[in-house]
Amino acid sequence: MYRHTRDEMIQTITREVAMTGAMTGRATLSSRVMKAMVDVPRERFVPRHLRADAYGNFPLPIGNGQTISQPFIVALMTDLLETRPEHRVLEVGTGSGYQTAVLASLVEQVYSLELRPELTGTAQRLLEQLGYRNVTLRSADGYLGWQEYAPYDAIMVTAAAPEVPEALLEQLKVGGYLVIPVGAPYQRQELLRLHKDVSGRVTIDELLGVAFVPLVHGH
Ligand code: SAH
Repeated sequence: MYRHTRDEMIQTITREVAMTGAMTGRATLSSRVMKAMVDVPRERFVPRHLRADAYGNFPLPIGNGQTISQPFIVALMTDLLETRPEHRVLEVGTGSGYQTAVLASLVEQVYSLELRPELTGTAQRLLEQLGYRNVTLRSADGYLGWQEYAPYDAIMVTAAAPEVPEALLEQLKVGGYLVIPVGAPYQRQELLRLHKDVSGRVTIDELLGVAFVPLVHGH
């Protein structure tokens, strides 16, 4: 029933990671992240009529004009966070909940913000059904982060912002990574990785050209 198997998806991720290694600084991903990519049933997060394409290496529409990222980008961004099992992670842009599930298989607790309440509702039900108990979702504007549970060991944004939201940097722990696509809507965007070092200084690495839906201000 699937046009691509999970195995093929893993092979494609491995190939694309190797091809982009010179830009991203990693030619292979950690085995923890690859295992999470194998374990999470991506077909459950895409619309029923697109299930056959669930394991293809491309983004798919998830309704409300939004998209679930291609598996390669999900795997890469996850790896870039350098998570550990005891981490508490903030995600901005829950969407289908797929990236949330990948993170939830790797860390202690995932907090995820989504602007559109319909998407939060659907993701919440699905993640519960699939047995992910360590996720906390909320419908809110992720520009402001989520102060209540801050600071976070790592932060991932899965929509493109015109600049890095200041609140997110403030809510990142010392030693932590923030991964975010930055650029104007529907134009060239760069995947950035920011690191807050022990002195609180922030360094920025520009990694790769990407295409994300916009992070919109939603008050
Ligand atoms: N990570 C998702 C894909 C997200 S697409 C997945 O795996 O399916 C980007 C998501 O960001 C969309 O669902 C969009 O509604 C959401 N979004 C856009 N602006 C936002 C904001 N300011 N705060 C929170 N979520 C936002």
